[in-house]
Order: sequence, then C-alpha cells, then structure tokens
Amino acid sequence: MTLPLTMRAPGAAGVSRAGDLFQLLRDGEPRTRAELAAVTGLARSTVAARVDMLLASALISAVGEANSSGGRPPSRFAFNPAARIVIAVDIGASHGVIALVDLGCTIRDSARAELDVAAGPEAILDWVTATARKLLTANDREISEVAGIGIGLPGPVEHLSGLPSNPPIMPGWDGFDVPGYVQRVFTVPVLVDNDVNIMALGEQATEWPDDDNLLFVKVATGIGAGIIGGGQLQRGAVGAAGDLGHVRVPHADHVICRCGNTGCLEAIVGGPAIAASLREQGLEATSVRDVVALARAGNVVALAAVRQAGRDIGTVLATCVNLLNPSVIVIGGGMAEAGEHLLAGIREIVYSRSLPLSTAQLRIVQSRAMDRAGVLGAAMMVILHVLSVTQIDNLLVPQKGIS
Ligand SMILES: [Zn+2]
Repeated sequence: MTLPLTMRAPGAAGVSRAGDLFQLLRDGEPRTRAELAAVTGLARSTVAARVDMLLASALISAVGEANSSGGRPPSRFAFNPAARIVIAVDIGASHGVIALVDLGCTIRDSARAELDVAAGPEAILDWVTATARKLLTANDREISEVAGIGIGLPGPVEHLSGLPSNPPIMPGWDGFDVPGYVQRVFTVPVLVDNDVNIMALGEQATEWPDDDNLLFVKVATGIGAGIIGGGQLQRGAVGAAGDLGHVRVPHADHVICRCGNTGCLEAIVGGPAIAASLREQGLEATSVRDVVALARAGNVVALAAVRQAGRDIGTVLATCVNLLNPSVIVIGGGMAEAGEHLLAGIREIVYSRSLPLSTAQLRIVQSRAMDRAGVLGAAMMVILHVLSVTQIDNLLVPQKGIS
C-alpha cells in the first residue's frame, strides 16, 4: 500500500491527522493499535490518542481481540459503517426514491413515490424532507445521526453550488437553491448532481470497484453519460461533461431535436422517438416502458427498432471509446431493460469502429445496480465527502480534549 507522504513521516503527528488514520481503517479490516503504528510509522501513543477520538465518534468500533502470545490480548478496531446514516435521494421526471444508506453504502430502508418533477422545487423537496423524517423515525435513527444528504436531479446541475442550470424538464428549478431549502430542515451537508453522474458513481462504487475507467450511459427518455476517469467522477469545467444526447448522428439530419438542433442522438433513440417510430409501424407505444414491454414480449418490429437504437448509440460510443479508453461501458436507464438486443446493437458498432487496443479489454454490459444506481450514487457522493481526511478531522475537532 502506498501511503500519503504525511503518513510516512514519523512525527508528522498531531491529533489533527486522525482523518488519515481513519482512511486506513475504511477497508473494514480490523487492526490493533500496534499494527496501525507499524503501518503508519507513528508513535504508539499518537495512534492510541487518535483511536480514542475515532472510538468516541463511533466511526470505528472494537471488534474482538487479536491473538496474544501472553498477557492481555490487544483489541482490534474496524470501520463502523452504521455510525451515521446518509439520506440518498433520486428524483426522476416522474418518480422519486429516498433511501437511508449507511456509510458502507448499504441501503437500510427506502421509499418510492410517483411524482411530477414539474410540480416545482418546493413541492418535491417538501416531500423529500417529510419522507426522510418518516424513514428516520421508522428506523429509530435521530436527525443528529444524519451525515449528509445527496440528491440526484434529472437535469443539468452546477455541482459546486448545487443549483440546477436551465433544466429542460424542470420548470421552476432553474437556479433554485436546493441545498439551502433542504438545510432549513436538516442542517447537514447537502450535495446535488445530475442523475447520470450519480448513477455512474453508484454503479462503479458498488459493482465495479476495481474499474477506475468506466463510462455509464443512461438510455431512457433522454440519453446521457457519467464518466469515471482515474477513479474519479469527471464533471468537466462546469458540470456539463457526458451530455451525449445532443451529439449529431450522421443519418438523422432531417430530425429536429427539442434542443433546437437537428440530428441529435436523443431525437432518434430516446424513448419517445423509438415509441413514435413504432406507432408509425402500427404498434401501440408512447413511452420507454411500452417499448421495453414490446421488446421483452418478442415483438420483432420492436426488437429491430431497439437493435437499431443500439447501433446509433454505438456510433457515438465508438468515438467515446477512442477518446476515453474505458475498461467497461455500463448501459443503464429504462431502455436498458429491453435487454440484449440493445447491447448487441451497441457492441456491433463499438467493436468494429473503435481501435483494437481500446477494445481489447473493453466490456459492454447492462447495469447491475439498475434502479438502485441513483440512490447508491447519491449516497456515495456524500460518503466520499464526509469521510474525507479533512471532513473527519473537522468532525473530531470538538473532541480533541479527549487526548
Ligand atoms: Zn439535441
């Protein structure tokens, strides 16, 4: 294991670096004080003081004793994921999911409702805070145990401020202070991002932890991508990275997109576009759900449309593969439930159009987290923030007196 320089230097002590020691324990493996001293090079007395602070915060707990060669066996300590709870929120165009998630990114409880994001931010966020309170009560958790709240929204978000930015399907949300509104009820960190970014985070953290270069593509009413590069979510300069839906597809110049341009990917393979083409061929379909139902029932017209959609998406993804060299492309969103025909169309084009070196190890797969990806990612966004070295040190500051 390569340690940060600050941890390799004995004597770079001071209780302010308890956050560093905590990072070692986040893998869940129990260790004794002596083992922690050996790994960090810190004095045993320093390690003991920091362990006491982390125990007092409940972020670590004693988990039995190590074998002893004589005398009292030493205690072992490990990360305690139940120490705090994260409220994870995934708002879609027509639904909302709220989950209580522990610090190990395990969902403890959740609630789901059909709702219309166009009802505006106050109505939706009032539902969020009221439902979160009910879930906390039902699970015997106090508001003081909430580490933070993560929210995914179905539109562009300026991540640093948490403000939605001209979201096309969210009237009334443009520039609305989402964190400020939620913090009137919960005085904790509130982080906001668009739904595709959090789905990428959730999928990678829980299903592909060893793949540091992952592209998550949501195919539903709209099309978008979340990019994990070098183990980090890549949001771009202003949070607009990954907007594949409005990349131009060569054969579709005659199709006008809702963005005002012509030939956009979303305008030919978004759920409503596929449904419209199926209607032209005499089938009843108005939504992503209808298209998926027809495909799963084996309707050959729908299967052909889904496979062609896969090819069109593959055309754009082939460029992404050459540009980003991901090791895995995960296809999620409602249309992914159409199954292998969508993936087959994507693979057909990506493997034939991307460079051999880029595709040698590349896997193109269906989402494993599926409809849990959003809340898992919203939780992971908060966990990455509140368990960072700096935040742990801030959390422990009031308890410095213990040592
Ligand atoms: Zn467009």
